[in-house]
Amino acid sequence: MTMRWDCPHCEGPCRVRTSKQMHSDYRVAYLQCQNPICGWCGKGEYIVTETTSPSGMPNSNYKGQLADHVPYRLIPPDDLFRSKR
Ligand SMILES: [Zn+2]
Repeated sequence: MTMRWDCPHCEGPCRVRTSKQMHSDYRVAYLQCQNPICGWCGKGEYIVTETTSPSGMPNSNYKGQLADHVPYRLIPPDDLFRSKR
């Protein structure tokens, strides 16, 4: 599955140039807008925010939300999508 990311400037599709998993629940992605006139590049983050179905092979070392600096609950999902839909 490919993660879709829209450019914050021209709203065109961005390509994930590369990404790196920093923790078991946190990945950094380097993005590049595919619109040649725009040319925006940026850095984004993928995070696991909660367990929706427990693992059949739970990892006792995983404490959850290792990326403490990420504001997991800063923007309610309804507010996040309101501007686009
Ligand atoms: Zn763009």
